[in-house]
Amino acid sequence: MRVMAQLAMVMNLDKCIGCHTCSVTCKQTWTNRDGVEYAWFNNVETKPGQGYPRRYEDQERWRGGWELRRGKLVPAAGGRLRRLANLFANPEMPALEDYYEPWTYDYRTLTDAPLGDDTPVARPVSAITGEPTSVRWGPNWEDSLGGAPEHARADPMVQRLGQEIRLEFEQSFMFYLPRICEHCLNPSCVASCPSGAMYKRSEDGIVLVDQDRCRGWRMCVSGCPYKKVYFNHRTGKAEKCTFCYPRLEVGLPTVCAETCVGRLRYIGVLLYDADRVGEAASEPDEQRLYQAQLGVFLDPHDPEVVRAAERAGVPHDWITAAQRSPVHSLITRYRVALPLHPEYRTMPMVWYIPPLSPVVDALAGTGFDGEEAGNLFGAIDALRIPLDYLAGMFTAGDPEPVRLALRRLAAMRSHMRAVNLGETPDPAASTGVGMDVGSLEAMYRLLAVAKYEDRYVIPTAAVGQAHDLEGIATTCSVGDEPAPGGRTDLFVWRDGERPAGMFPTLREKGKP
Ligand code: SF4
Ligand code: SF4
Repeated sequence: MRVMAQLAMVMNLDKCIGCHTCSVTCKQTWTNRDGVEYAWFNNVETKPGQGYPRRYEDQERWRGGWELRRGKLVPAAGGRLRRLANLFANPEMPALEDYYEPWTYDYRTLTDAPLGDDTPVARPVSAITGEPTSVRWGPNWEDSLGGAPEHARADPMVQRLGQEIRLEFEQSFMFYLPRICEHCLNPSCVASCPSGAMYKRSEDGIVLVDQDRCRGWRMCVSGCPYKKVYFNHRTGKAEKCTFCYPRLEVGLPTVCAETCVGRLRYIGVLLYDADRVGEAASEPDEQRLYQAQLGVFLDPHDPEVVRAAERAGVPHDWITAAQRSPVHSLITRYRVALPLHPEYRTMPMVWYIPPLSPVVDALAGTGFDGEEAGNLFGAIDALRIPLDYLAGMFTAGDPEPVRLALRRLAAMRSHMRAVNLGETPDPAASTGVGMDVGSLEAMYRLLAVAKYEDRYVIPTAAVGQAHDLEGIATTCSVGDEPAPGGRTDLFVWRDGERPAGMFPTLREKGKP
């Protein structure tokens, strides 16, 4: 057992109101610059919908992530030879029109127009060419199902559903999906990089781009199945979500989490066994990848795990943070949080609590009590549309884990309503979903009324290591297709063990 610590996020989709505050604050912090006008490290998509960039979930088109070939995990984009052959013309590279052409408005016309009979109009201007443009698409084009009859049927997840379901979906449900980089345990962006510039920090699992080493090949852009690496056309380098590491190193949550209006984001530490990652990502049955990833996580209360973590050099306060981690509770104890597209085999570390509200809304629309456990359980089973669609997103199509998560949320909802109305809760609601009343109420406290310090349990041990953290890096590649300059094993060197000259720290570079 090789214990490692990973910072992870859980988002409760029931509470996302689609306000885009997270996207805007992230943009103001990280990408409000030339060259990355089109880049949204955090974006919020309406589902069903095509997403950003368009149809990024269609891996038959984009070939991101990993796939199994003859039992071996290999980049879906092909082996090293194919990737090298595509260096100068990569057919799997999204073009600007797949994202959108960023634009601003000719505000000067408004302010400087001479007095006249007509009201001046600020026309859209391309933020790239400075020329007048006509706006045809954007990162938020399908907001709240705007244009759904025309666009949402192109959603790859909708296209996998049956015809009958497809025709009904737009009357049935809608929810918002905020997305950032998944800071995967098995990141295909890192394995795709020919320059060894992408790396996963061994201390906390954050995936970053070394700007000095990046040569702008953009293999990481096509290699990431979530399309969460962006090319800066000014600097010629790749950029991506940093999980706001300068904030996390001093114990603060990411900007998107800090400013989230719905208070739906949770950040915490998970301990996992790095020796099991390759095997779990190679699980042959796609629908068992969720379970396989769960099997990699370790119980931070298990004394044996604690001893192994200490032997591996995980700081004491990281271990105690893992024991208090809201993310650990939601993912492994309550099993209400699920990974986004586990079938990409990157082992994503931003997990989602699927939304129950589409079911409640549909139920309430039929005149039934949308808070009553029996009604809700029946509706979860009867409403195939949300269940199948959510399963396509979170469990490679297996409806059972989604059903369990929704039933647990329904049981919690109904139990707490009875408590708040002074009624006697029906014990069958909790036992029917395999939870006791204490766990149900603890889950309610976490999901409904958790305070800032309960939602973000971020160890501050990194403060003393902040300088060194910039240099503690590994490349990561599973299987026999290492990134040139990379290593075939996972995250094996810690500070002091690094090969000389590899990722020098600021101190080694002679900088204060
Ligand atoms: S989502 Fe995963 S594969 Fe994509 S950039 Fe982030 S770490 Fe890399
Ligand atoms: S700030 Fe929070 S509630 Fe608003 S869109 Fe982002 S995740 Fe959703």
